[in-house]
Amino acid sequence: MDITSWIECLPKVELHVHLEGSLRPATLFALARRNGVDLSAQSPDDLAALYRFDGFDDFARLFMTGLDVLRTAEDFADTTAALAAELAAQNVRYAEVTTTPLHHHRRGVALEAYAAGLEEGRRRARTDHGVELGWICDISRESEDPGSHFTVDFLLGRTAPQGIVGLGLGGVETGFPPELFASSFAKAKANGLASLPHAGETAGAESVWGALRTLKADRIGHGIRCLDDPALVAHLVEHRIPLEVALSSNASLKLVQDLSSHPLGDLAQAGLVVTLNTDDPAYFQTTLNQELRAAHDLHGFTRQALRDAQAAALDASYAPSATKTAVHRELTEVHP
Ligand SMILES: [Zn+2]
Repeated sequence: MDITSWIECLPKVELHVHLEGSLRPATLFALARRNGVDLSAQSPDDLAALYRFDGFDDFARLFMTGLDVLRTAEDFADTTAALAAELAAQNVRYAEVTTTPLHHHRRGVALEAYAAGLEEGRRRARTDHGVELGWICDISRESEDPGSHFTVDFLLGRTAPQGIVGLGLGGVETGFPPELFASSFAKAKANGLASLPHAGETAGAESVWGALRTLKADRIGHGIRCLDDPALVAHLVEHRIPLEVALSSNASLKLVQDLSSHPLGDLAQAGLVVTLNTDDPAYFQTTLNQELRAAHDLHGFTRQALRDAQAAALDASYAPSATKTAVHRELTEVHP
């Protein structure tokens, strides 16, 4: 079987994908039309220009446009179902999807509607597409007052959707260190939620140390800058803390020069637990299959290494045990 078909058929798990970064042009266009948002586009194809960006500022603009079309429970359900359809088409069996409640609350979306939409979308993912989803709600570093505990209180409150697996930390890393949010993460951990911060993406090793020491991180979103500090690499290897690596994201945001100069190979060589992810697949114009293909073509990942990365993601996930057992069996027995 050629590598393209092999990757397509491989059962997969994704741990780092943002709901708000999954809006393909067709979904963005449909939601804008439904809500009367003017995107100055007559068709999804017209939106192509919006999806071309150069660096973080353009990305942030596109991200805000995407937020603006998400207003009702139905919008969140449809967006989740669209992501699930895309995942199912790639044989992704389980995904942990990150979403940022404060972004929506600030725009006037009722948290009850938001949560109901997520729940309905997750139900449709399972029944219509056969994909199991877990939710990660993340704190937006630059938006949330650390003392407010807004995100963790939402997660632990009555309005939280079903299927929450952990508390995340995203947004602007530089200037907003993990330590600011220690009490939110302590509260999350005390209530059985995983600690799943982004760290070591735009800031350096000290940000990853902060996530580990202060937030007791169970995984690190990105974490590629750990390579700046050999003692940190040794710690991550010893404690088997998985990294959620996203090649196209890092290249699109100019954290690395291009896909081939990404340090993925170095991370794997160092013995780190590496998983492959899309981050914001619509905006970085990628799919999980494309990420695996890039790992294979540009970073020497053999078929066995690609399969191992899926097994690592499954092990590092908070999937229900029945899902873990089934996908593990498929990975070891069914896929040649
Ligand atoms: Zn991310």
